[in-house]
Amino acid sequence: MNRQTFSGLDAVCLLLASPLLSAAEPVSADLIITHAHVVTMNDAREVFEDGVVVIQGSRIVAVGPASASAGFTAKKTIDARGGLVLPGMINTHTHASMTVFRGLGDDVPDRLRKLIFPLEKALIDRELVYWGGLHGMIEMIEGGVTTFVDMYYFEDEVARAAKKIGLRGVLGETVVNFPAPDAPEPYGGIAYAKKFAAAYRDDPLITPALAPHAPYSLDADHLRLIAHESEVLGLPVLMHVAEMPAEIATLRQEHNMTPVEYLDSLGLLNRRLVAAHCIFVTDSDIALLKARDVGVAHNVVANIKSAKGIAPVVKMLAAGLRLGLGTDGPMSGNTLDVIGQLGYVAKLQKLDQKDPTVMPALHVVELATRGGARAIHREADLGSLEAGKLADVIIIDADATALVPLYDPYAALTYGASGKDVRTSIIHGRVVMEDRRITTVNVAEVRARMRAIGARIKASIAAGKK
Ligand SMILES: [Zn+2]
Repeated sequence: MNRQTFSGLDAVCLLLASPLLSAAEPVSADLIITHAHVVTMNDAREVFEDGVVVIQGSRIVAVGPASASAGFTAKKTIDARGGLVLPGMINTHTHASMTVFRGLGDDVPDRLRKLIFPLEKALIDRELVYWGGLHGMIEMIEGGVTTFVDMYYFEDEVARAAKKIGLRGVLGETVVNFPAPDAPEPYGGIAYAKKFAAAYRDDPLITPALAPHAPYSLDADHLRLIAHESEVLGLPVLMHVAEMPAEIATLRQEHNMTPVEYLDSLGLLNRRLVAAHCIFVTDSDIALLKARDVGVAHNVVANIKSAKGIAPVVKMLAAGLRLGLGTDGPMSGNTLDVIGQLGYVAKLQKLDQKDPTVMPALHVVELATRGGARAIHREADLGSLEAGKLADVIIIDADATALVPLYDPYAALTYGASGKDVRTSIIHGRVVMEDRRITTVNVAEVRARMRAIGARIKASIAAGKK
């Protein structure tokens, strides 16, 4: 999972590039962000109120006060005009292409089996996955997301869309025990995933993954096979874990285990696993998740909306779990914007614990950035603004109403800001949104495609009701 580590060679190049060693000659960089209120999220949580970020190629080469850019010239300068500059948000669990179904059949019981699976079976094809995915990625970039962790069908189409728009992704091909839209045989997702993984090996933006749907939707033999393939091929495994009351009951009845214990017995509980939800985890499950170095995706808004339960986030954090934030799919949480989740993360834990001091804003912003990077074991490259890390950087509008006046950037982001306050986004050193304009795809075309797909889905549902 950690293929893009900061190599020793890069370190040497950085040293050579340092203006301190060659005071006379300015070093040419690609991009300098000036007049930035830099919230680094580095180990010391340094903040530079009038700071700079210097980017060369795909990496950050300098971060600090205004003087840190002395000695650099750049092809492009972006004046942040006092806006908050942060590492991009990491969405550790979603199904981006489900934008095509957003808003269908909300507020009803047992949606997954009665509504979502049948809709997907009837309608999902390559075109829906590509355009729905691209539409979801526009929403994520507009909301400050620079890395997303996705599980769906035709995941190669999600990868194609992510490459086109320039969004970083850990992309998992779904495996289930029934015929899927992209695999007529049950478990056909395993072969599909292997082919997809081979096509995207060593891609700078895309990390292919295996995505077994959940402990209850695959049999034990296939879960063991996935653990084996993941180890042999070095692929991350993305999975819904301890999300459903019925899942807990079934595994208790059939194996006398919790989902976490069950996955451990099959060899799936390890550093390659990103476990989404983990609502129903016991204290000993949390200890096991920690011991096995598993990443966990907390999907607060989707969990509230589905009324399933409150994940023990305070306990997970106290245990030192690799915990990040996710939106879940747009049919579950109805939004892909991580900044919009932040307030809920804090407030639900405060309410649950009847204690306004738990889950302070700093910790919430940590979850969305450093925590997400840790959840996918990419903290060497992502999650903070530091020289040597990948250049995934967002700029938040200094004039955003809820941020004026600005006292505490963490509190402002968590309790006041909206994803719509993100003005500019840089991913892998590339400016993918500048002053709210997506630079890499034609947004109007994507919207037109989505409206046409929506009309097709509406007609298909109407025909089915006749
Ligand atoms: Zn999900």
